[in-house]
Amino acid sequence: MTAPRSISVLGATGSIGASTLDLVRRNRADWQVVALTANCQAKELTALAREFGASVAVVADESCLPELREALAGSGIEAAGGAAALVEAATRPADVTVAAIVGCAGLAPTMAAIEKGRTVALANKEALVSAGEVMTAAVARSGATLLPVDSEHNAIFQCLSGNSIADVRWITLTASGGPFRDWSLERLQAATPAEAVKHPNWSMGAKISVDSATMMNKGLEFIEAFHLFPVGVERLRIIVHPQSIVHSMVEYRDGSTLAQLGPSDMRVPIASALAYPARMNTPCAPLDLAAIGELTFRQPDEVRFPATRLAREAAVAGGAAPAVLNAANEIAVAAFLDGQIAFTRIVQCADSVLSRGLPPPPASLDEVIAVDLEARIRARETMEPVR
Ligand code: NDP
Repeated sequence: MTAPRSISVLGATGSIGASTLDLVRRNRADWQVVALTANCQAKELTALAREFGASVAVVADESCLPELREALAGSGIEAAGGAAALVEAATRPADVTVAAIVGCAGLAPTMAAIEKGRTVALANKEALVSAGEVMTAAVARSGATLLPVDSEHNAIFQCLSGNSIADVRWITLTASGGPFRDWSLERLQAATPAEAVKHPNWSMGAKISVDSATMMNKGLEFIEAFHLFPVGVERLRIIVHPQSIVHSMVEYRDGSTLAQLGPSDMRVPIASALAYPARMNTPCAPLDLAAIGELTFRQPDEVRFPATRLAREAAVAGGAAPAVLNAANEIAVAAFLDGQIAFTRIVQCADSVLSRGLPPPPASLDEVIAVDLEARIRARETMEPVR
């Protein structure tokens, strides 16, 4: 019998957190839980920390710490709160640290784990999009291992295994197209938050569901792929695949295309990262291609969904552009979910913040955070009352 591996889950109360802990629950003897974190869901975090016997539970929002403390009293589990506590928890020794906080809020703790040379299973794409070279340089410097959890990037990672990146002709990211993929522009203008979070294939947190509906999720993933797999933007492309069965593909110069297929269940890519380089069981039903019947593909429509064009341009521009794009998008998505702006204003907002000029390229974590904060201010300025 092998010794249990230790794991920390940053963003334990979210959708990726739940899928990760479901796998841990099913293989309880294999894992020892170190740190579990949330923003403010103290009750949910307490239940998880108690169930998994975590060493420490952290709420990022310090105002929620009294509730966490009270709920954990007598459990022997340490309770902590605030930004510094979150970073400290992320640096605790663990065989794998799952970065599953949503948005740029996950950047500092993810970077802290990377700086310690940890193995980071990265779901929090916004952190890599915003920090780009700052994060990849930290990975190179510290010897950390970054294992992609995003299903597309995990698929590409698997398709690249045993091959040379120099032999890659194309990397193709697949996109479901989201719940509005067949909607007209007119209909998109009136799309509601409830409609936007109803993804046809995946069950996810609200922010990424809206990103999926605008196709900004694919845009962010394009930038994420640009950093994870250094083939250059000209070798990266996006194709719409409504069934979400082929999670991405790599075509080599000999004409061979390798694809990774699987059910639309995040436990598959999470399991691949948790067990890497081995494999582990998941409860997912075997893929029944005969029952699925048809796998279809089509070009993305960048007229109705300009987010992928915007992201490609930001990747090419480099420097502060991806961080600005991401920050403006986060603010616009929150405003849309809050009923303040129309659906189509989300990407327009990111576009207008980007076109107002860029700050110098950030060279450190602090500079990335400064760019992010400034872009948030600008994004709020562009907001107009809805309809
Ligand atoms: P959720 O909204 O479901 O969960 C987010 C988690 O982050 C929660 O634990 C939340 O805590 C915590 N959190 C929120 N805001 C903060 C903050 N300011 N500081 C610290 N922690 C915070 O998100 P998802 O699980 O859907 O997504 C997480 C990440 O994974 C995102 O980057 C997303 O793009 C990526 N991803 C998600 C996929 C999915 O299927 N869901 C697929 C691929 C990638 P609390 O509960 O207290 O609010």
